[in-house]
Amino acid sequence: MKFNVLKKSIVSFLAIGVIFLQVAAPVSAEVVVSGAKWTNTVTVSGVKYLNTPVNTTYLATNWQTPGSTAVSNWTNYSGSYVKASVQNNSTSKVDCASKVSGTWYSWAPANAYAITNIQDSSGVWAYNFNTGASNSLGTSFVYAQIYTNPMYDSNSDLSQTSKTYVLTHEIGHTQNLGHTQSQTTASVMRTGYASYSWANYDRPQDYDRAVLVALYQTYLGR
Ligand SMILES: [Zn+2]
Repeated sequence: MKFNVLKKSIVSFLAIGVIFLQVAAPVSAEVVVSGAKWTNTVTVSGVKYLNTPVNTTYLATNWQTPGSTAVSNWTNYSGSYVKASVQNNSTSKVDCASKVSGTWYSWAPANAYAITNIQDSSGVWAYNFNTGASNSLGTSFVYAQIYTNPMYDSNSDLSQTSKTYVLTHEIGHTQNLGHTQSQTTASVMRTGYASYSWANYDRPQDYDRAVLVALYQTYLGR
């Protein structure tokens, strides 16, 4: 299996097979699975949103605030497309957890910050947690799990701002946002490099909002 990993890269194994869906300029919607959508929605005052309840309970202490901030950032900076909220594991559709030392996936890059696995409406996972083998997802994403790498639990190894970037980025994958390939485009979905300033990208950017529009405008009836 091919990993797009550079030093300290943000890794999502869902990036495998990313298809560049060409849409109207200026945005190419860079998606995890072409044509797929996060299909949990909620309608508030007649307006339909992507409903993204996230359980952050099982994140390590230093990931807790970044987790809740990432959730708020999707609600506040998604251009009113995403309604994310922190909820418990009985109501969540995205479950986050921190792996403990010594349990990071043997098949995963040792220095990956986090991984996101998505389940489709047929119960198929994007990849097998035990082997890392990938599966073909359907076009309806209904549930996801995000695991953080214990290598970065310390704030000296990864700042709170960078942790926020990581979790905001991973939640973006659950909504079928793929990696923004340009390393000069302001985007929370940019593949991460330590040498770039992440401080500007701890929340969705114009580019990310445009990708959401490309993917979901019709679906949400906007
Ligand atoms: Zn990623």
